[in-house]
Amino acid sequence: MYFIQTRGNDGKKQLKTTFSEAIKSPIASFGGLYVPEFLPQLDKKFIDESVDLSYKELCLKILDLFELDIDKDIIKQAISLYDNFDDKDNPVPLKKIEDMLFINELYHGPTRAFKDMALQPFGYILSQIAKNEQKTYLILAATSGDTGPATLNSFANKENIKVVCIYPEGGTSDVQKLQMVTQKGDNLKVIGIKGNFDDAQNALKSLLASESFQHELGKKDMNLSAANSVNFGRIIFQIIYHINSYIQLVKNKEIKNGDEIYIAVPSGNFGDALGAYYAKKMGIQIRKILISANSNNVLSELINTGVYDIRDKTLIKTISPAMDILISSNVERVLYDKFGAKRCKELMDDLNKKRYYKLTKDEHTALQKDFRGYFCSDSETKHYISEYSVKNYLMDPHTATCIKAYDDIKCSRRKTVICSTAEWTKFAPAVMNAISCEYNKKFTDIDALENISEIMNANIPSSVINLFKAEIIHKTVIDKKDLQEEIFKFLENY
Ligand SMILES: *Cc1c(COP(=O)(O)O)cnc(C)c1O
Repeated sequence: MYFIQTRGNDGKKQLKTTFSEAIKSPIASFGGLYVPEFLPQLDKKFIDESVDLSYKELCLKILDLFELDIDKDIIKQAISLYDNFDDKDNPVPLKKIEDMLFINELYHGPTRAFKDMALQPFGYILSQIAKNEQKTYLILAATSGDTGPATLNSFANKENIKVVCIYPEGGTSDVQKLQMVTQKGDNLKVIGIKGNFDDAQNALKSLLASESFQHELGKKDMNLSAANSVNFGRIIFQIIYHINSYIQLVKNKEIKNGDEIYIAVPSGNFGDALGAYYAKKMGIQIRKILISANSNNVLSELINTGVYDIRDKTLIKTISPAMDILISSNVERVLYDKFGAKRCKELMDDLNKKRYYKLTKDEHTALQKDFRGYFCSDSETKHYISEYSVKNYLMDPHTATCIKAYDDIKCSRRKTVICSTAEWTKFAPAVMNAISCEYNKKFTDIDALENISEIMNANIPSSVINLFKAEIIHKTVIDKKDLQEEIFKFLENY
C-alpha cells in the first residue's frame, strides 16, 4: 500500500510514498501528513473469523491487509513486544463495568499509558529500518508527560537510533518525571527545560527550523525523524485495539455481530480518536465516536459548532495534562478524508495564519455524522472519578472525562466502550483528591499512591514503586536557549 498527502503535492516530494518512507520522515508537502491511499475493508465474516484469535494474531491479520513494505519477521518481532505487557495473553483487557459500559484498558504496557500500544512496536520497526539502511536517526521529542517515557522506553539501546527528550522541569507528575530521568540507555538524553510545556515545545520547534542545526546534523551524517502521533507508524497500531474491542464484545455475546456500539476517547492530539475513525471506515459498526476533552475544549467546539478557533484561547493547565493542547494535529487527517486535499490545505492554512477556520454547513454535518464532542471541567472529572471509585473502579483523570459522554448517550441502549488511556498510578495526586473528597489538598505522588492503594485495595505495579528507589541518571536542566549546544554535546560524546 502507498501513502498520500493531506495537503496535496508541492512537486518536491513524490506523489505517493511507501510506509517506511512515511514513517522515516513523517512531514509531507506543505507541512501536511501522510495517509493511506485506501483502507482495507472488514466485513462481518472477518469479525466472526477473528473471535478466537489472540491480540497478536489479530494484529498480524490486520497489518497484512495494509500490505506494508516491512519484512514479515520484523512485524512479528515488533508485535511480540506486547508480551511484555501485564498479561501476555491479553495485553489489552476489555473490562465490563456496567451492563452497557465497557472499558478498553490500553495502559498495561511498561510506562502505564496508552502510548506504549503504538510506541513499543513502532520503535522496533523504525530501528530495524535504520539498521538495514545503515543510517542513524535522531528522534527529538518534547513531552508533557506520557510520550516522553514511552518513547525512551521503546528506543532504549536500539541500534542506529538516538533520542533526545525534552520535558518542562516541574511541569510533569513525579511518576512521569522519574520514568524519564531513571531510564537507562546510552543512546538516550533527557533534558529538563526551565519553563512550561509550551516553552519545551517551542524550543524544539525553533531548533527543527534552524538551518545551522540541520547543517550540523548533516555533517554528522545524522537524519531526523519524529515519534509523535503525526507519524502514521503510530496511528496504524492505534486502529487495531478499537477493532479488537468490537470483536471481544461479539465473542462475549454482549452484542451481535453487526450491532452498533459507541466508542468514547479522551482526546488531545486526536491520534487515538483517529484510530477509531479509521476502524469505523474499515467497516466496524461504530455508531459514533465520542470525543472527550478537558477545559481546553477546541475539539468539542469544532464538532459542536463547525469552528476551530484559538484566537482568544490560551492553554489552561488541568488535571488531565495529556489533553492540554490547542492545536490538535490529527484532525487534519479527518479533514482530508472528508473534504479532500485542496480544502484540507485551505483549512490548515487558515488555522496557521488566522488561528481560525470555519467549516461550511454541509462540512459540519459530515463531521457530525461520525463524531460527538464533550468536555469536562476539573471538578466534573473529579466527581466522575469519585463516582466510579465508589463502584470499585479506579480511573485516571483522562479516562474519567469520557463518563460525561457516556451519561449523555446511555439511554440509546447501545453499548459503549471507553478507552482508558492511563493507569491511575500515573496521576495519583488528582485521583486522591477525587476519592478522598479533599479536592484542594496537595498530595505528593508517593503519598497518594500509598493512600489510594490502601483505601481501594488497589495494586501498584512494581515498575511504578521501583521508580522511587531508582538511580537518577539524567540530571540536565537548562535554559531553552542552551538546547542546541546541549544536544551537540550529547552527540559528540556518544
Ligand atoms: C496522549 C494521551 C491522551 C491523548 O491522546 P491523543 O491520541 O493525543 O488524542 C489522552 N490520555 C492520556 C493519558 C495520554 O497520554
